[in-house]
Amino acid sequence: MRNEHISSKSAQRLPTPAGPLVLTSKVLEDARTFFEDRGTFGLEGTAMIKGRADFDLVVPRQNARRDAYGQVNVEVPRVGQIDLALALGPDDLYVARIHSHPGDAFHSPADDANPVISFEGGFSIVVPFFGLGLRRGLDACAVFLFHDAVWVELKPGPVRDRWIVAEASR
Ligand SMILES: [Zn+2]
Repeated sequence: MRNEHISSKSAQRLPTPAGPLVLTSKVLEDARTFFEDRGTFGLEGTAMIKGRADFDLVVPRQNARRDAYGQVNVEVPRVGQIDLALALGPDDLYVARIHSHPGDAFHSPADDANPVISFEGGFSIVVPFFGLGLRRGLDACAVFLFHDAVWVELKPGPVRDRWIVAEASR
């Protein structure tokens, strides 16, 4: 299991992308709505973002748990992996995974080890506060880029903006 961390120093050694991935307001709103809804049950949610210029949120069947101490986790079982595969048309691709945390946004060891979308250039977005953080936009989220076989955190700011931004709202 991989859980080395992945400082912002390594972010400075990243190559320069041709241009940022521009996530649409709609896909981020869809994600926020889904996560907040799960949050009303005290549960995390997880989803994928597919597309190239226009994006769709794909929500697979998932098992979210909350124990008596309020510890939560969510996983995508085999049927959910099939949901994800079937949602992808011939010209589609997944560009990011996005999931919510009950509190702060970070990559847990399980998040690092999760093989989903762990390919060069894939993004992982973690939304704090059961999705409510997205009301403050992508800057309130933790964002990671898979590069050289590790997840590199892109802190909010110019380096992140070269890779991924939210569409300017109107
Ligand atoms: Zn997580």
